[in-house]
Amino acid sequence: MGSVTDVAVKKLPCLPEGTFAQKKPTVVFVLGGPGSGKGTQCAKIVQHFGFAHISTGDLLRDESRSGSETGNMIESIMKEGKMVPAEVTIKLLQKAMQESGNDKLLIDGFPRNEENRAAYEAVIKIEPKLVLFLDCSEEEMERRLLNRNQGRLDDNIETMRKRFKVFKESTLPVIEYYNSKGKVRKIDAGKPAEEVFEDIKTIFTSISQVKHCFCVIL
Ligand code: UDP
Ligand code: MG
Repeated sequence: MGSVTDVAVKKLPCLPEGTFAQKKPTVVFVLGGPGSGKGTQCAKIVQHFGFAHISTGDLLRDESRSGSETGNMIESIMKEGKMVPAEVTIKLLQKAMQESGNDKLLIDGFPRNEENRAAYEAVIKIEPKLVLFLDCSEEEMERRLLNRNQGRLDDNIETMRKRFKVFKESTLPVIEYYNSKGKVRKIDAGKPAEEVFEDIKTIFTSISQVKHCFCVIL
């Protein structure tokens, strides 16, 4: 057996291997109330840190436009500001994650209730590295939603109030759950987008350092 002085330690980059499931991509959940800036900040994270952005709201909107029976059901639930059943959302999410081909995934607007979280843990089973919580006052979120003019059926004052209620009653407990596991990074999201991103950058810079494996050759 070689002595300590014969041991060569090589620093090698950890390369992803195998299939999606074995690869275990880095997953970051992005949560916050409607209008807290999830989509805006995710686009900046994609640009600066090379993550793929998967928005469950966008996946559901795409499906609702397909005109299928499920699509019609999704549209009427979204118009009401309610939650689409987890079995529908989880299937769309799983497909999008597999097809992304990226090993760093930002999952925007999910899991927003306990049912979603349980479905994710049962089906996808990849523990999030972090949960980014964009914390913003209701007055500011309301102002942004009324100004964004994206033609969304749920950006009207009546549906918005229901969405705020769902956020407080169903999503905050999920954030609390991840907080108890030390995963939540809470950001003041009431500031202008560029300033919010400065805070987010600090967090992502620390998780995006190139990881190295130490290979010990005896
Ligand atoms: N939605 C859902 N499950 C999800 C994500 C979205 O049921 O995992 C539905 C829900 O009706 C929600 C709507 O889609 O109110 C819009 O979600 P999105 O994330 O696009 O809204 P945002 O919070 O970004 O304004
Ligand atoms: Mg959004």
